[in-house]
Amino acid sequence: METIPVYNPATGSVLRRLTPHTPAQVRAMVKRATKAQLEWAQRSVKDRADILARFSVLLSQRADQLALTLSAETGKPVSQARGEILSTPARVNYFVDNSLEHMRCTVMHTEPDDVGIPGSTSMEELVSYDALGVVANISAWNYPYFVGSNVFAPALITGNAVIYKPSECALLTGQSITGLLHEAGVPEDVFIMAVGDGRVGQALIESDIQGIFFTGSYETGARVASAAAHKMIPMQFELGGKDPVYVADDVDPAQAAASLADGAFYNNGQSCCAVERIYVHQDIYYAFEKAFLEAVNGFKMGAPDHEDTYLGPLTREAQIDVIQKQVDDALHQGATLACGGRRASIEGWYYEPTVLTDVNHQMAVMQDESFGPIIGLQKVGSDEEAVALMNDTRYGLTAGVFSRDRSRATHILQQVKSGSSYWNCCDRVNPRLPWTGIGQSGVGSTLSREGIRAFLRPRAWHLRAPSN
Ligand code: NAP
Repeated sequence: METIPVYNPATGSVLRRLTPHTPAQVRAMVKRATKAQLEWAQRSVKDRADILARFSVLLSQRADQLALTLSAETGKPVSQARGEILSTPARVNYFVDNSLEHMRCTVMHTEPDDVGIPGSTSMEELVSYDALGVVANISAWNYPYFVGSNVFAPALITGNAVIYKPSECALLTGQSITGLLHEAGVPEDVFIMAVGDGRVGQALIESDIQGIFFTGSYETGARVASAAAHKMIPMQFELGGKDPVYVADDVDPAQAAASLADGAFYNNGQSCCAVERIYVHQDIYYAFEKAFLEAVNGFKMGAPDHEDTYLGPLTREAQIDVIQKQVDDALHQGATLACGGRRASIEGWYYEPTVLTDVNHQMAVMQDESFGPIIGLQKVGSDEEAVALMNDTRYGLTAGVFSRDRSRATHILQQVKSGSSYWNCCDRVNPRLPWTGIGQSGVGSTLSREGIRAFLRPRAWHLRAPSN
């Protein structure tokens, strides 16, 4: 029987083997969920929200153990894994606290009787919201608690059933999430985990689901979108980025460098909103570069289960080739290697933190998502040049400006295509605000009111009272 390996990226060894679901099993789980969803949707919103609130409590109580699992299968340093898990309840609780308000049936318009006109009637126009039904939650591995809960928390609270397909690189965490949701009170057929790789994802989108919520790369997202286009069901895609930041000439270069080094290298750069390109005004460029390199050289690489490790191994060994190709291409075209540039000479899937300078936009490192511990620094002469370079991309997830001057920064950011705009910060997500992308960064929004309504189908009511 075929099994699917769960790797330990710190050693390359196999931690566990799981049996993947077959396409027939996936179809059967969708059938079970379709039946169970009817009863789930009949429960009160409060009832469902209370269950998700219990899930939040369980996450906080079990964070230490869950962090070890996440760290073991993804290589994420255990302190960062615990940080992700302990921050997830705030996201889930946003939906617990706010879903009801955005699901309420609302009277949009009323017309009184036209007194005196025989046979006239009153008209009421309402909008109500129905759950979509059974939705597919196809998830990435880099922040499985964040990107998973962005979808399953609002989906469940609004009355949907969820078939959850975690990445094959975060299967044990997927099992933990599933177990905790069931323990919190979500019925087993209302939240079902599909085990397997992309083939199971494909079987899921071919089955009788009512919505697709995908987090992953543009390439896979585009494949999913084409495969499901004929279904005419809601689909959302949260995809990759090549997120730029511009450092203007009026900031403290050391402060900006410390913040941006963390934004680029946290979780080994394996964040959709990691800083992937930095443009620095020429007047402070050298001071910035020096401080940036100091910060990067201070990052401790090591075993992911050590509390003081900042850089663990990459989650997928194949990404090492992607990064090496970007480095080689940049050096071939005249870039300077300021640090790193090769696989670390230790066991496991480690890559040295890498900074390239003298880069330009002919180089893949400034165009293609790196999703690893590598960054290019480019000198610019003006705000206008920075805007032009920031917009020279297929992506549009986040963009940032570091400047003392809020109006200068917002003026620049208004000209840059991105779903999120950052002033003096980066790599930041908050459930109060929509999370969305432009171009190859995706379509649709999670989080915020938009991320609640995404799981609901509006129904228009035109109600005319009978004439007497
Ligand atoms: P990926 O390779 O595109 O995979 C995403 C998900 O799709 C995984 O669960 C994957 O399963 C599944 N899948 C693969 N082939 C499929 C198919 N034919 N049909 C249906 N599902 C299929 O992406 P990843 O490596 O997991 O994640 C990294 C990417 O996600 C990066 O580009 C990153 O920027 C992006 N990301 C975006 C956000 C955001 O909010 N915008 C957040 C996190 C990550 P397997 O893994 O089991 O193959």
